[in-house]
Amino acid sequence: MERRMSKFQKFILQPDNQFCADCGLQGPQWVSTNTGVIICDKCYAIHRSMGASVSKLMSLNSNDWTDEEVELMLFIGGNAAANAAYEAFVPKTCKRPMPDSSNQERAKFIRNKYERQEFVKPSMRLASSSQESTLFSKQENSSALGFVGLIRVRVIKGINLTVRDFMTSDPYVVLTLGNQKAQTCVVRSSLNPIWDEKHLLSVPHATFPLKLVFDRDTFSEDDTMGDVSVDLQPLYAAVKVQEAMGDELGNVQVGKWVATRDNDLSCDSMIFLQNGRLLQDLKLKLKNVECGELEIQIEWVPPID
Ligand SMILES: [Zn+2]
Repeated sequence: MERRMSKFQKFILQPDNQFCADCGLQGPQWVSTNTGVIICDKCYAIHRSMGASVSKLMSLNSNDWTDEEVELMLFIGGNAAANAAYEAFVPKTCKRPMPDSSNQERAKFIRNKYERQEFVKPSMRLASSSQESTLFSKQENSSALGFVGLIRVRVIKGINLTVRDFMTSDPYVVLTLGNQKAQTCVVRSSLNPIWDEKHLLSVPHATFPLKLVFDRDTFSEDDTMGDVSVDLQPLYAAVKVQEAMGDELGNVQVGKWVATRDNDLSCDSMIFLQNGRLLQDLKLKLKNVECGELEIQIEWVPPID
């Protein structure tokens, strides 16, 4: 508990948490514990008017923080991380409130941001009929913090990666899910590296994407070799199917994530049961780079009751 609190103190001091997540005013004192943002007095009033199912509020200096709330805040990662989700697609025409904006301007933006989730990536937007309308809220049936289970990500291989500089590349993959990070080893001088490494990550919420960034082992920092994003919702849907059907399924396909222009799949991704294990094969096209593909397999590791 003490260690967690000192982590929390550090978290509060993060640069991004020094300014209101909505209007940028310095020194915000309120926290919306389910959306993960730290906000000022003026924005607090608007958050309050949306109700606790949209924004659950708490004073930053309150003594009533529960372990769960602290964990969730740490997990979301602060104002910058929360805004990366809630403000992923703010249209150019939309006016972001400033510290001295009118209440009306402020309310319009805040309601669009959290209540209607207008700026969220469409695939992450939750149905408005759902009871909780925050991205980071607890999942039903989950043990704590919206934790829905574990995945074991097997990073298999890279195919036809791009050449950086004059030489070949020494690539490795960084996996991120929420605040968690894992990294494969470096494969020397290869554009078709084979890692075949497994990394265990917890799934805090089915709407969080798993991200993989390729890099090369280098002294210069800006040599990213592309990245991909994996939507875990098809897998989570398959988990629900498996739960409903029990052991009767045998070795069968239980789901599919179809390749479209909006996702990073090279081909349709199959989700199947094999000897009681729920697996998903993915072949992914690297983004933000000229070429390259990545093969991974994700295994669902159910929570222990
Ligand atoms: Zn504010």
